[in-house]
Amino acid sequence: MSIDRHAALAPYAARADASRGRLHPEEPSSSRNAFQRDRDRIVHSSAFRRLEYKTQVFVNHEGDLFRTRLTHSLEVAQIARSIARNLRLNEDLVEAISLAHDLGHTPFGHAGQDALDDCMKPHGGFEHNLQSLRVVDVLEERYGAFDGLNLCFETREGILKHCSVEHAKQLGEVGLRFIERKQPSLEAQLANLADEIAYNNHDIDDGLRSGLLTIEQMMTIDLFRRHALVVKSLYPDIPQRRMILETVRRMINELIVDVTETSRAQIAAANPASLAEVREAGRLIGFSDGIHAEAVALKRFLRKELYYHYRVQRMAAKAKRIVRELFGAFDGNPDLLPAEHSARLRVLGARAIADYVAGMTDRYAIREHVRLFAIEG
Ligand code: MG
Repeated sequence: MSIDRHAALAPYAARADASRGRLHPEEPSSSRNAFQRDRDRIVHSSAFRRLEYKTQVFVNHEGDLFRTRLTHSLEVAQIARSIARNLRLNEDLVEAISLAHDLGHTPFGHAGQDALDDCMKPHGGFEHNLQSLRVVDVLEERYGAFDGLNLCFETREGILKHCSVEHAKQLGEVGLRFIERKQPSLEAQLANLADEIAYNNHDIDDGLRSGLLTIEQMMTIDLFRRHALVVKSLYPDIPQRRMILETVRRMINELIVDVTETSRAQIAAANPASLAEVREAGRLIGFSDGIHAEAVALKRFLRKELYYHYRVQRMAAKAKRIVRELFGAFDGNPDLLPAEHSARLRVLGARAIADYVAGMTDRYAIREHVRLFAIEG
């Protein structure tokens, strides 16, 4: 069997040996295909290690059992790979995209991203998804021959989930599909949906664990209630914590089965003979209409009851203040930055501050804020 495992791949799957290649041409590896190599570069990057200390919903120091960006990314990869194998898509590519998809996230989750975007408004804004691409294309510094990780086109296109036409025009080939309104690979479509499956479910688990959500509230959500009732009838005396986990496990399974079956049918109907034909087709990876409606209802619920819970919002307000004040302190003051970042600030202006702040972990940002603003620190 070749390292690309061609025999197992469907004709519509992305193939490593047919990749559009890297920005800087490299000799192929003798032991790994190009997408495996991308995945390995991502896992060895410093941005990947920093995901361990970045907020998903709960700030990292709030509890050891909550998801972080790292465990979230691992769950996305697991879900995406399961579905990929069932659809005979390229598991190596979907894994690489999943592990890299959040590399550009700021500290403190969406609160951090919103604050940094506000600070960067006069300088073209800040968008975590574009930043993920910037991390792998430019910011990682570990190879002699090039900046960034020099990943394959297909991995980079998967990382760039969404993008305005304006930004797309500045990105060259990888942005072209947003201008031409074409689809990315099925692996990219799948990683995107696996992200949604992962966070909807783990946010229920974390929300209940934190006490910000209650079982009574969750029972108003069809997707949860359906499985919770089955679990209770199968195991009447089950302790609540196990009931929740058993319910969430069943929800994830139902979503995975639904995506697999719906996508399989949609792929069969469109019948793409190659990745090129996938790009011309409509979106082929998705939920059935019924599950889609339930997933939308769940998302709306989580937004209202968890992400906008006053305790989450208090932390978010604090986080925004930290990001805003860090940015403000550095803006126009290169002398306050560590040498490598002050040198970049002199060349790149505000973008260098955004790169520095976005790269911080939660606790690094908090410490840096103390170092800059506390009289005694
Ligand atoms: Mg994500």
